[in-house]
Amino acid sequence: MKIFVAGGAGYIGSACTEYLIDNGHEVTVFDSLETGHRDAVDKRAEFIEGNLADKDLVVKSMVEGKFEAIMHFAAYSLVGESMTDPGKYFRNNVASGINLLDAAVEAKVRTIVFSSTCATYGEPEIIPITESEKQCPINPYGESKLAFEKILKWYHEVYGLEYAALRYFNASGASKNFGEDHSPETHLIPIVLQVAQGKREHIMMFGDDYDTPDGTCIRDYIHILDLAQAHMLALNAPRSGHYNLGTGKGLSVKEIIDVAREVTGHPIPAQIAPRRDGDPPRLIGCADLAKKELGWKPQYENANDIIQSAWDWSQKYPNGYEN
Ligand code: UDP
Repeated sequence: MKIFVAGGAGYIGSACTEYLIDNGHEVTVFDSLETGHRDAVDKRAEFIEGNLADKDLVVKSMVEGKFEAIMHFAAYSLVGESMTDPGKYFRNNVASGINLLDAAVEAKVRTIVFSSTCATYGEPEIIPITESEKQCPINPYGESKLAFEKILKWYHEVYGLEYAALRYFNASGASKNFGEDHSPETHLIPIVLQVAQGKREHIMMFGDDYDTPDGTCIRDYIHILDLAQAHMLALNAPRSGHYNLGTGKGLSVKEIIDVAREVTGHPIPAQIAPRRDGDPPRLIGCADLAKKELGWKPQYENANDIIQSAWDWSQKYPNGYEN
Protein backbone atom coordinates (compact mmCIF):
# COMPACT_ATOMS: atom_id res chain seq x y z
CA MET A 1 0.00 0.00 0.00
CA LYS A 2 0.97 3.63 -0.40
CA ILE A 3 0.89 5.06 3.12
CA PHE A 4 1.08 8.62 4.49
CA VAL A 5 2.82 8.55 7.88
CA ALA A 6 2.25 11.71 9.91
CA GLY A 7 4.90 11.91 12.61
CA GLY A 8 7.22 9.41 10.93
CA ALA A 9 10.32 11.15 12.30
CA GLY A 10 9.32 10.47 15.89
CA TYR A 11 10.09 7.55 18.16
CA ILE A 12 7.28 5.15 17.23
CA GLY A 13 6.64 6.56 13.74
CA SER A 14 10.24 6.00 12.65
CA ALA A 15 10.30 2.33 13.66
CA CYS A 16 6.88 1.82 12.13
CA THR A 17 7.97 3.40 8.84
CA GLU A 18 10.97 1.05 8.73
CA TYR A 19 8.74 -1.94 9.46
CA LEU A 20 6.22 -1.00 6.76
CA ILE A 21 8.92 -0.56 4.12
CA ASP A 22 10.60 -3.83 5.18
CA ASN A 23 7.24 -5.47 4.51
CA GLY A 24 6.79 -4.07 1.03
CA HIS A 25 4.78 -0.89 1.62
CA GLU A 26 5.58 2.51 0.14
CA VAL A 27 5.79 5.33 2.71
CA THR A 28 5.74 9.12 2.67
CA VAL A 29 6.66 10.65 6.01
CA PHE A 30 5.13 14.01 6.94
CA ASP A 31 6.76 15.58 10.00
CA SER A 32 7.40 19.08 11.36
CA LEU A 33 10.70 17.95 12.94
CA GLU A 34 9.72 19.93 16.03
CA THR A 35 10.24 16.88 18.21
CA GLY A 36 11.22 14.36 15.52
CA HIS A 37 14.60 14.01 13.82
CA ARG A 38 15.44 14.10 10.11
CA ASP A 39 17.86 11.18 10.66
CA ALA A 40 15.03 9.16 12.15
CA VAL A 41 13.27 9.10 8.78
CA ASP A 42 14.02 5.86 6.97
CA LYS A 43 16.11 6.71 3.90
CA ARG A 44 13.81 4.65 1.69
CA ALA A 45 10.79 6.85 2.55
CA GLU A 46 9.72 10.08 0.82
CA PHE A 47 9.85 13.01 3.21
CA ILE A 48 7.70 16.14 3.47
CA GLU A 49 8.62 18.65 6.18
CA GLY A 50 5.44 20.27 7.40
CA ASN A 51 3.08 20.84 10.29
CA LEU A 52 -0.43 19.43 10.48
CA ALA A 53 -1.56 22.94 11.43
CA ASP A 54 -0.82 23.91 7.79
CA LYS A 55 -4.05 22.59 6.29
CA ASP A 56 -3.28 23.65 2.70
CA LEU A 57 -0.02 21.70 2.73
CA VAL A 58 -1.64 18.65 4.31
CA VAL A 59 -4.46 18.61 1.74
CA LYS A 60 -2.09 19.23 -1.18
CA SER A 61 0.29 16.46 -0.03
CA MET A 62 -2.57 14.05 0.47
CA VAL A 63 -4.27 14.73 -2.86
CA GLU A 64 -1.02 14.60 -4.86
CA GLY A 65 0.23 11.42 -3.19
CA LYS A 66 -2.84 9.27 -3.91
CA PHE A 67 -2.45 7.40 -0.64
CA GLU A 68 -4.47 4.34 0.32
CA ALA A 69 -3.92 4.72 4.05
CA ILE A 70 -2.76 7.11 6.74
CA MET A 71 -0.92 6.42 9.98
CA HIS A 72 -1.14 9.26 12.46
CA PHE A 73 1.66 9.42 15.06
CA ALA A 74 2.09 13.22 15.08
CA ALA A 75 1.27 14.44 18.58
CA TYR A 76 2.65 15.81 21.80
CA SER A 77 2.82 12.98 24.30
CA LEU A 78 4.08 14.11 27.70
CA VAL A 79 1.66 13.63 30.56
CA GLY A 80 3.53 16.03 32.87
CA GLU A 81 3.76 18.82 30.27
CA SER A 82 0.08 18.45 29.43
CA MET A 83 -0.75 19.26 33.06
CA THR A 84 1.02 22.62 32.80
CA ASP A 85 0.13 23.55 29.19
CA PRO A 86 -3.15 21.87 28.25
CA GLY A 87 -3.88 24.24 25.34
CA LYS A 88 -0.74 23.06 23.55
CA TYR A 89 -2.11 19.51 23.65
CA PHE A 90 -5.62 20.32 22.47
CA ARG A 91 -4.40 22.59 19.65
CA ASN A 92 -1.93 20.09 18.24
CA ASN A 93 -3.42 16.70 19.09
CA VAL A 94 -7.02 17.64 18.33
CA ALA A 95 -7.31 20.76 16.15
CA SER A 96 -4.35 20.04 13.84
CA GLY A 97 -5.35 16.40 13.61
CA ILE A 98 -8.70 17.45 12.16
CA ASN A 99 -6.82 18.93 9.17
CA LEU A 100 -5.46 15.45 8.53
CA LEU A 101 -8.96 13.96 8.59
CA ASP A 102 -10.34 16.63 6.26
CA ALA A 103 -7.45 15.97 3.89
CA ALA A 104 -8.19 12.22 4.06
CA VAL A 105 -11.80 12.85 3.09
CA GLU A 106 -10.86 15.23 0.28
CA ALA A 107 -8.28 12.78 -1.12
CA LYS A 108 -10.62 9.80 -0.62
CA VAL A 109 -8.18 7.85 1.53
CA ARG A 110 -9.78 4.60 2.68
CA THR A 111 -8.42 4.14 6.19
CA ILE A 112 -6.46 5.71 9.05
CA VAL A 113 -4.55 4.06 11.89
CA PHE A 114 -4.38 6.37 14.89
CA SER A 115 -1.92 6.35 17.82
CA SER A 116 -4.17 6.44 20.84
CA THR A 117 -3.18 5.63 24.37
CA CYS A 118 -4.03 3.86 27.61
CA ALA A 119 -4.04 7.37 29.13
CA THR A 120 -7.61 7.65 27.76
CA TYR A 121 -8.69 5.25 30.55
CA GLY A 122 -7.55 7.45 33.45
CA GLU A 123 -7.66 5.35 36.62
CA PRO A 124 -9.27 2.11 35.46
CA GLU A 125 -11.40 0.03 37.81
CA ILE A 126 -10.58 -3.37 36.30
CA ILE A 127 -7.03 -4.53 35.54
CA PRO A 128 -5.95 -5.76 33.00
CA ILE A 129 -7.85 -3.09 31.09
CA THR A 130 -10.11 -4.13 28.21
CA GLU A 131 -11.47 -1.84 25.52
CA SER A 132 -14.84 -1.68 27.27
CA GLU A 133 -13.37 -0.04 30.40
CA LYS A 134 -14.76 3.45 30.94
CA GLN A 135 -12.62 6.26 29.54
CA CYS A 136 -12.07 9.06 32.08
CA PRO A 137 -8.65 10.60 31.43
CA ILE A 138 -6.90 12.27 34.36
CA ASN A 139 -4.62 14.47 32.27
CA PRO A 140 -5.03 16.70 29.18
CA TYR A 141 -2.80 14.39 27.09
CA GLY A 142 -5.22 11.48 27.58
CA GLU A 143 -8.20 13.80 27.08
CA SER A 144 -6.81 15.07 23.76
CA LYS A 145 -6.40 11.50 22.48
CA LEU A 146 -9.89 10.54 23.64
CA ALA A 147 -11.33 13.60 21.87
CA PHE A 148 -9.63 12.52 18.66
CA GLU A 149 -10.96 8.97 18.99
CA LYS A 150 -14.49 10.42 19.20
CA ILE A 151 -13.89 12.65 16.17
CA LEU A 152 -12.66 9.61 14.22
CA LYS A 153 -15.90 7.82 14.97
CA TRP A 154 -17.88 10.70 13.45
CA TYR A 155 -15.69 10.88 10.33
CA HIS A 156 -16.40 7.19 9.96
CA GLU A 157 -20.16 7.70 10.39
CA VAL A 158 -20.39 10.75 8.17
CA TYR A 159 -17.79 10.10 5.46
CA GLY A 160 -17.15 6.36 5.68
CA LEU A 161 -13.47 6.83 6.62
CA GLU A 162 -12.36 3.52 8.17
CA TYR A 163 -10.20 3.74 11.30
CA ALA A 164 -8.33 1.75 13.90
CA ALA A 165 -7.51 3.60 17.11
CA LEU A 166 -4.63 1.71 18.73
CA ARG A 167 -4.42 2.35 22.45
CA TYR A 168 -0.78 1.83 23.29
CA PHE A 169 0.44 1.09 26.74
CA ASN A 170 4.08 2.18 27.36
CA ALA A 171 5.97 2.16 24.06
CA SER A 172 9.55 1.10 24.67
CA GLY A 173 12.62 -0.59 23.19
CA ALA A 174 14.27 0.06 19.84
CA SER A 175 14.78 -1.46 16.42
CA LYS A 176 18.36 -1.85 15.16
CA ASN A 177 18.28 1.58 13.52
CA PHE A 178 15.64 3.60 15.36
CA GLY A 179 15.23 4.35 19.05
CA GLU A 180 14.06 6.86 21.61
CA ASP A 181 15.64 10.32 21.56
CA HIS A 182 13.57 13.09 23.13
CA SER A 183 14.85 16.43 24.26
CA PRO A 184 14.38 16.85 27.12
CA GLU A 185 13.94 13.16 27.89
CA THR A 186 11.17 12.43 30.40
CA HIS A 187 10.47 8.72 29.89
CA LEU A 188 11.55 6.15 32.42
CA ILE A 189 13.54 3.62 30.38
CA PRO A 190 15.69 6.09 28.36
CA ILE A 191 16.45 8.07 31.53
CA VAL A 192 17.45 4.91 33.40
CA LEU A 193 19.76 4.02 30.51
CA GLN A 194 21.24 7.52 30.53
CA VAL A 195 22.32 6.82 34.12
CA ALA A 196 23.99 3.60 32.94
CA GLN A 197 25.68 5.59 30.14
CA GLY A 198 27.10 7.99 32.73
CA LYS A 199 25.03 10.94 31.48
CA ARG A 200 23.11 11.28 34.74
CA GLU A 201 24.04 10.61 38.35
CA HIS A 202 20.85 8.83 39.33
CA ILE A 203 17.24 8.12 38.45
CA MET A 204 14.44 9.83 40.40
CA MET A 205 11.52 7.53 41.18
CA PHE A 206 8.37 9.65 41.16
CA GLY A 207 6.51 8.45 44.25
CA ASP A 208 6.92 5.30 46.35
CA ASP A 209 3.65 5.60 48.24
CA TYR A 210 1.22 4.37 45.60
CA ASP A 211 -1.14 1.51 46.34
CA THR A 212 1.05 -1.04 44.56
CA PRO A 213 3.18 -3.88 46.03
CA ASP A 214 6.43 -1.84 46.11
CA GLY A 215 4.77 1.59 46.20
CA THR A 216 5.95 2.68 42.73
CA CYS A 217 3.75 3.02 39.64
CA ILE A 218 3.11 0.01 37.45
CA ARG A 219 3.08 0.22 33.65
CA ASP A 220 2.80 -2.24 30.78
CA TYR A 221 5.90 -1.84 28.57
CA ILE A 222 5.37 -2.85 24.95
CA HIS A 223 8.08 -3.03 22.30
CA ILE A 224 7.83 -0.56 19.40
CA LEU A 225 8.31 -3.34 16.83
CA ASP A 226 5.27 -5.10 18.26
CA LEU A 227 3.40 -1.81 17.92
CA ALA A 228 4.65 -1.56 14.33
CA GLN A 229 3.34 -5.04 13.54
CA ALA A 230 -0.08 -4.08 14.94
CA HIS A 231 -0.17 -0.93 12.78
CA MET A 232 0.48 -2.91 9.66
CA LEU A 233 -2.19 -5.47 10.54
CA ALA A 234 -4.65 -2.67 11.36
CA LEU A 235 -4.54 -1.56 7.71
CA ASN A 236 -6.76 -4.58 7.07
CA ALA A 237 -8.79 -4.52 10.28
CA PRO A 238 -12.14 -6.30 9.84
CA ARG A 239 -14.02 -3.24 11.15
CA SER A 240 -13.41 0.28 12.43
CA GLY A 241 -12.76 0.35 16.15
CA HIS A 242 -10.38 0.47 19.09
CA TYR A 243 -7.67 -1.97 20.12
CA ASN A 244 -5.44 -2.10 23.19
CA LEU A 245 -1.78 -2.88 22.56
CA GLY A 246 -0.08 -4.13 25.69
CA THR A 247 1.52 -7.26 27.08
CA GLY A 248 -0.97 -8.01 29.86
CA LYS A 249 1.91 -7.76 32.34
CA GLY A 250 2.93 -4.82 34.48
CA LEU A 251 6.27 -3.74 35.91
CA SER A 252 6.83 -1.19 38.63
CA VAL A 253 9.35 1.65 38.36
CA LYS A 254 11.58 -0.26 40.82
CA GLU A 255 11.33 -3.45 38.76
CA ILE A 256 12.28 -1.61 35.56
CA ILE A 257 15.35 -0.20 37.28
CA ASP A 258 16.30 -3.70 38.49
CA VAL A 259 15.99 -5.13 34.96
CA ALA A 260 18.11 -2.26 33.62
CA ARG A 261 20.77 -3.01 36.27
CA GLU A 262 20.84 -6.60 35.10
CA VAL A 263 21.01 -5.71 31.39
CA THR A 264 23.64 -2.96 31.68
CA GLY A 265 25.70 -4.26 34.61
CA HIS A 266 25.57 -0.72 36.04
CA PRO A 267 24.40 -0.07 39.64
CA ILE A 268 21.98 2.72 38.48
CA PRO A 269 21.56 4.68 41.73
CA ALA A 270 17.93 5.59 42.42
CA GLN A 271 16.32 8.21 44.66
CA ILE A 272 12.74 8.74 45.74
CA ALA A 273 11.15 11.97 44.51
CA PRO A 274 7.62 13.38 44.90
CA ARG A 275 4.78 11.99 42.78
CA ARG A 276 4.40 13.43 39.28
CA ASP A 277 1.02 15.07 38.60
CA GLY A 278 -1.32 13.09 36.38
CA ASP A 279 0.25 9.64 36.95
CA PRO A 280 -2.25 6.78 37.52
CA PRO A 281 -0.86 4.09 39.87
CA ARG A 282 -1.38 1.09 37.59
CA LEU A 283 -1.94 0.62 33.85
CA ILE A 284 -1.89 -2.88 32.37
CA GLY A 285 -3.56 -3.73 29.10
CA CYS A 286 -5.48 -6.74 27.89
CA ALA A 287 -4.82 -7.05 24.14
CA ASP A 288 -6.93 -10.14 23.42
CA LEU A 289 -9.09 -8.22 20.94
CA ALA A 290 -6.11 -7.14 18.80
CA LYS A 291 -4.84 -10.73 18.85
CA LYS A 292 -8.22 -12.12 17.84
CA GLU A 293 -9.37 -9.55 15.28
CA LEU A 294 -6.09 -8.27 13.83
CA GLY A 295 -4.11 -11.49 14.20
CA TRP A 296 -1.51 -9.60 16.25
CA LYS A 297 1.33 -11.78 17.57
CA PRO A 298 3.67 -9.76 19.80
CA GLN A 299 7.25 -11.05 19.68
CA TYR A 300 8.81 -9.37 22.73
CA GLU A 301 7.63 -11.27 25.76
CA ASN A 302 9.71 -9.79 28.54
CA ALA A 303 11.19 -6.56 29.84
CA ASN A 304 14.78 -7.86 29.59
CA ASP A 305 14.50 -8.14 25.80
CA ILE A 306 12.87 -4.72 25.54
CA ILE A 307 15.46 -2.98 27.69
CA GLN A 308 18.27 -4.90 25.97
CA SER A 309 17.13 -3.55 22.59
CA ALA A 310 17.00 0.02 23.93
CA TRP A 311 20.44 -0.46 25.52
CA ASP A 312 21.90 -1.83 22.27
CA TRP A 313 20.56 1.21 20.38
CA SER A 314 21.94 3.65 22.93
CA GLN A 315 25.36 1.96 22.71
CA LYS A 316 25.29 2.24 18.93
CA TYR A 317 24.06 5.87 18.98
CA PRO A 318 25.42 7.26 22.28
CA ASN A 319 24.25 10.80 21.40
CA GLY A 320 20.97 9.73 19.83
CA TYR A 321 20.39 11.23 16.39
CA GLU A 322 22.86 14.06 17.04
CA ASN A 323 25.69 12.28 15.25
N1 UDP B 1 9.07 7.82 36.08
C1 UDP B 1 9.94 7.96 37.13
N2 UDP B 1 11.08 8.68 36.93
C2 UDP B 1 11.39 9.26 35.75
C3 UDP B 1 10.49 9.09 34.67
C4 UDP B 1 9.33 8.37 34.87
O1 UDP B 1 9.70 7.48 38.24
O2 UDP B 1 12.43 9.93 35.64
C5 UDP B 1 7.84 7.02 36.27
C6 UDP B 1 6.55 7.79 35.97
O3 UDP B 1 6.13 8.53 37.10
C7 UDP B 1 5.61 6.65 35.59
C8 UDP B 1 6.54 5.61 34.94
O4 UDP B 1 7.85 5.95 35.36
O5 UDP B 1 5.06 6.08 36.75
C9 UDP B 1 6.49 5.66 33.43
O6 UDP B 1 6.65 7.00 33.03
P1 UDP B 1 6.93 7.41 31.54
O7 UDP B 1 7.09 8.91 31.53
O8 UDP B 1 8.04 6.60 30.99
O9 UDP B 1 5.61 7.00 30.75
P2 UDP B 1 4.07 7.38 30.99
O10 UDP B 1 3.49 6.22 31.76
O11 UDP B 1 3.97 8.68 31.70
O12 UDP B 1 3.52 7.44 29.60
